[in-house]
Amino acid sequence: MNAARREIRTVLVANRGEIAVRVVRACRELGLGVVAVCSEADRHAAHAELADRAIVLGPPEPAASYLRGDLILAAARQAGADAIHPGYGFLAENAGFAEACAEAGIVFIGPSPAVIRAMGEKTAARALMEKAGVPVVPGALLPAPGPNGSFAPEAVHEVCDRVGYPLMVKAAFGGGGKGMRLVPDRAQVVAACEGAAREARGAFGDGTVYVEKYLARPRHVEFQVFGDSHGNVVHLFERECSIQRRHQKIIEESPSPALDADLRARMGAAAVAAARAVRYEGAGTIEFLVDQGGGFYFLEMNTRLQVEHPVTELVTGQDLVCAQILVAGGAALPWRQEDLAVRGHAIECRVYAEDPENGFLPSLGRLLLLREPTGPGVRVDSGVRQGDEVTLHYDPMIAKLSVHAHDRPAAIARMAAALRGYPILGVTTNHEYLLAVLATPAFGAGRLHTGFLDEHLPGWHSGREGSAAVALLAAAAAEPERASRTGGAAPRAAAPAVDSPWDRLGRFRHPGLG
Ligand code: ADP
Repeated sequence: MNAARREIRTVLVANRGEIAVRVVRACRELGLGVVAVCSEADRHAAHAELADRAIVLGPPEPAASYLRGDLILAAARQAGADAIHPGYGFLAENAGFAEACAEAGIVFIGPSPAVIRAMGEKTAARALMEKAGVPVVPGALLPAPGPNGSFAPEAVHEVCDRVGYPLMVKAAFGGGGKGMRLVPDRAQVVAACEGAAREARGAFGDGTVYVEKYLARPRHVEFQVFGDSHGNVVHLFERECSIQRRHQKIIEESPSPALDADLRARMGAAAVAAARAVRYEGAGTIEFLVDQGGGFYFLEMNTRLQVEHPVTELVTGQDLVCAQILVAGGAALPWRQEDLAVRGHAIECRVYAEDPENGFLPSLGRLLLLREPTGPGVRVDSGVRQGDEVTLHYDPMIAKLSVHAHDRPAAIARMAAALRGYPILGVTTNHEYLLAVLATPAFGAGRLHTGFLDEHLPGWHSGREGSAAVALLAAAAAEPERASRTGGAAPRAAAPAVDSPWDRLGRFRHPGLG
């Protein structure tokens, strides 16, 4: 435990996109200086332009820019930054980078390198949690494979038969749903273990795999935890993230429709115990799977700010990013557990430039028209602006659209309305897919599980046609907007004379529904 005060005056944001913008805003509110780093492709990106200054790291590829810890530390020294906020992704869970920050005398806004390392290895994290009395998904480590990557079948069977089928093979250092396989029965287990180990070696540089009992139709419910350097730990309740595509969350909400007060209290206590067991400092997330009977099991801990943190901010009214910075500076947590409560209901949708009708492939191109929804209880965390380009180099998420309302049905209605009033032209987006999920009766009833999308929207198709004509119309609709942004001479009156080009396109695509 390190209760020293470390004065933070200037923060370097080691990230891009919406999360970098989010951190820049928090620094401004705290009256701190803020420095962005960017790749050559991001010189004019929102995060770079919003910061006090931006330092170019290198070429667009993350390995040559946002993942270059050495260049980022050099930028911090050059700019006189005394702290680095890593956002999520990139270097956020890189213990070596956190260590390098400490060696350079720069505060890493996150937990200690030792905790990042311990939680980054899922098997070690599971063992730690078991010791702290937190229930974990039943499972076991596999014996190491031979030098040619093949497992001894008897050894694999011995371990897996004990765990039982179906089971999940997972990479010890995995993340983002990679290196994970569902094994229905004994006949496929050896090949699946070998495949997962190979994939894990390629993606994470380590082929260690373990197996877990596969829970049928579980919910993904995670708890936001927060610790400080004075030994205080609280939780800020849960987020339900069961709406996933290929194990990646796309809709998150708080509170979870599955938790009653008793289960919430027990899971919250387990989450706090988990964070206390590793003397956690800063913002972290304890992920659980909840089975159909209400049993809950530790899945993993994420030692960073989570993509879906806005839903927690909306229902608790607290600012997690400001708290991260204050706590990293040595301050005590701004809340006691009894100060925290949930008000109303919040939902977040991840809006992507992707084509749900074409295998969810990223849809690259320029955002010819982009108008973000506003209004009571609507929040948009976005890192792009009209005229920006969605490229192959980075995640194609355009924004996180979050809403807050007095209860869940009102939040769903508010989200649907906000999505409909969110025209984006120039790339294909998952807007209509998200709307289809919200409109599913099981979603409305809160009957969620991690296989929800496969069950309710397999092979989803919008049923709309005429995309080439729509693209042309889109370009035409966007022209006056582009001209006005770039200082062109197109008069304002030349803008489309409808409130929402999205509606107009809807009518265009649906001649019969006008
Ligand atoms: P990653 O770190 O790659 O995201 P996780 O261990 O967090 O992997 O799991 C991601 C998702 O995979 C979970 O939210 C859940 O949908 C599914 N999953 C993981 N483990 C199990 C399990 N044992 N049984 C059923 N589903 C699981």
